[in-house]
Amino acid sequence: MILQNWWYSTLMGVSSPMCPPLKGEIKTDVLVIGGGAAGLAAALCSTQSGAKTVLLERNLCGGGTTGKSAGFLTPDSELELDQLLRRFGPEGARDLWDAGTSGVDLMRGAIKQFGFDCDLQEQDSLYVAKSRGSAHAIEAEFNTRKKLGYDADLYNTDRLPEAMNSTGYYAGVRYPGTFSLNPLLYSQGVKRGLLELGCTIHEASTVTRIDGHTVYTDLGSVTADQILFCIDKPQERLTKFSWNVYNAQTFLAVSEPLGDKLISKLFPNGTLQCWDSDLLYSYWRLTGDGRMLLGGGSLLTSFAGRDVTDPSVIRSVIDSWRRYYPSLKDVEFIQYWPGRIDMTRDLLPTITIDEDRPWVHHVLGCVGLPWASFCGDFVARHALNTEKENDSRFYKFLSPKRGFLIPLWVERLIGKRIVFSLNTAWAKFYQVDRGETVDAGEEDF
Ligand SMILES: Cc1cc2nc3c(=O)[nH]c(=O)nc-3n(C[C@H](O)[C@H](O)[C@H](O)COP(=O)(O)OP(=O)(O)OC[C@H]3O[C@@H](n4cnc5c(N)ncnc54)[C@H](O)[C@@H]3O)c2cc1C
Repeated sequence: MILQNWWYSTLMGVSSPMCPPLKGEIKTDVLVIGGGAAGLAAALCSTQSGAKTVLLERNLCGGGTTGKSAGFLTPDSELELDQLLRRFGPEGARDLWDAGTSGVDLMRGAIKQFGFDCDLQEQDSLYVAKSRGSAHAIEAEFNTRKKLGYDADLYNTDRLPEAMNSTGYYAGVRYPGTFSLNPLLYSQGVKRGLLELGCTIHEASTVTRIDGHTVYTDLGSVTADQILFCIDKPQERLTKFSWNVYNAQTFLAVSEPLGDKLISKLFPNGTLQCWDSDLLYSYWRLTGDGRMLLGGGSLLTSFAGRDVTDPSVIRSVIDSWRRYYPSLKDVEFIQYWPGRIDMTRDLLPTITIDEDRPWVHHVLGCVGLPWASFCGDFVARHALNTEKENDSRFYKFLSPKRGFLIPLWVERLIGKRIVFSLNTAWAKFYQVDRGETVDAGEEDF
């Protein structure tokens, strides 16, 4: 098993122009910084609205977190629907779930619009219980989905083999309307589409400084009416909101192709994208060419400050996962890679403007490709004053002024790692926000 991002291997043979680094001084209406799912959605919204748009990306488009991800497209990004219901009540849960769904729709829409191939597959989701205790969480998710009017099917231990040929899981909830894709091919496909529409894109262009309406890279500068930061791992010199974001490390591995026979035995009723009920859960799905993609992490490395690149963590994820799949005991995993997911203290993204520079907008801590796409599109609409009528319902969820268990100043005393691990666990399993969220106003956005 070698340390290499599989998606880069799939880029070979795809004709995608390298957009040269920014040189010299340019002016534009809208500048988007960051070419991940959020920045691409922002640039698409801005370009399509007719604004002259420039996108600056430090790597390749998709070369940050987006292009390292597993490509599950589900609104369920770290917060299950039942957890949203506990936190926000039925109306808030629906609003947030539907926002995630609209992120999925935005991505599917871009693929359709530009007509590129990125291994988009419709794959139902299956969330499985690894213990008798967590079977209750699965049942609760099923009941919540039914209560809020979303489709779902509950599999008890006896019925699980109808969906998946595994052993040892206690229950599963399956639901439709979810998809998967190759996130690097997606990013490069949207990049090509943006170029066709007239957006100016510079890759290998790191923004190092902002001064007023102008941002600087090593070789050039862009002056813009509106500046949209859609970057990961934000640094204090670029945004005062960097304290609002931390990141967790997770790992992925990809197998050799399994072959049709093994696949139809594994998923007798159609392939599924799956994850389990552990706190540090594993997640797995099949790629279009029949490879198993498996992700997970460990308690020691998730919130560790240093990057871990040796294969020990993913090896132990693979070993423990194999116990549930005796038929896959001989399947080889050939490549693995680590990645870090930005998050806020409560696992919902933050969108805000810089009060001192109201032309500077920030998208922060998007957990999940659909959320990133939703937020990129949202922030561009706001910068361009083309927001939708009911956008304001999201202010209270996404404002940096919303209620958190542990305030930011504590971070400066005890460090981000402790604050984020406690706060995110609280948000996922205990937090109740109803009536506690601030009523953020237009000025925050
Ligand atoms: C291993 C792994 C598996 C995952 N699996 C899934 C999954 O299956 N489904 C899912 O929905 N989510 C998944 N995620 C999470 C998902 O990848 C992220 O939530 C999402 O990609 C965030 O998108 P983004 O646009 O906000 O950030 P990014 O994709 O990180 O985009 C930010 C971009 O900004 C650029 N940038 C940063 N600083 C600068 C600067 N100074 N100047 C210029 N450019 C800059 C970066 O290079 C980067 O390309 C996974 C993440 C990881 C690490």
